[in-house]
Amino acid sequence: MIRAVLFDLDDTLFDQRQWLDGAWRAVATRAAAWGLDPDALLRALRDVAAGGSDRGGIIDGALAQIGASATPVAPLLDAFHTYTPTRLEPYRGVPAALDQLRTRVPLGLVSDGEPGVQLAKLAALGLAPSFTTVVLSDEYGRAHRKPDPLPFRRALGALDVDANHAVFVGDRPAKDVAGPAALGMRAIRVRTGEWRATPDDPRAWQSVDSVLDAIALIDRELDGAATRPRAASAR
Ligand SMILES: [Mg+2]
Repeated sequence: MIRAVLFDLDDTLFDQRQWLDGAWRAVATRAAAWGLDPDALLRALRDVAAGGSDRGGIIDGALAQIGASATPVAPLLDAFHTYTPTRLEPYRGVPAALDQLRTRVPLGLVSDGEPGVQLAKLAALGLAPSFTTVVLSDEYGRAHRKPDPLPFRRALGALDVDANHAVFVGDRPAKDVAGPAALGMRAIRVRTGEWRATPDDPRAWQSVDSVLDAIALIDRELDGAATRPRAASAR
């Protein structure tokens, strides 16, 4: 029986490249104050980030690439962390699908990353009202980023649902499948975004092409539970 569904944010509900590209532009624009060529720095930022956007040191790497390592990094990091787009587009059909699903079960969000940045993304996506609870793991310290059990436990606790009655939907097997599975949750891996080509390792309960496919699958499970005889569903 599914009594709650938890979602990851980046590359699960929207294409993170939209946000990242705007953030790199903000960094490049800020760098013009030190006489750097914003276009050259933007190209370098994209180039270094292409090696994996969640590695540290991307700004340092890009500055080195354009021969500007002496530039102070702190103001550029500030431009990155305070970038607040007014509008981001969720993956197609996501707002309506979440609105429909939340009439059936409560929804939660569990996300890593700078809390201010993650909240700004959620606001720009217009998705905040879909979630009964939003857990940002960095508020407990970076050591509690997924797959650490704490953020998942917080979300389950807020919804008052046992792990075995909850489903987690996310794009990164090492975070969004390993973490929930260790607690006894079912995980649906969505093959979207930067990590879409990574293998299903660890293997999820289900692996699907998109978050809409994941929600359709959850709907079918909920339909099945609703029509199943009570004795069978109690097992
Ligand atoms: Mg993600």
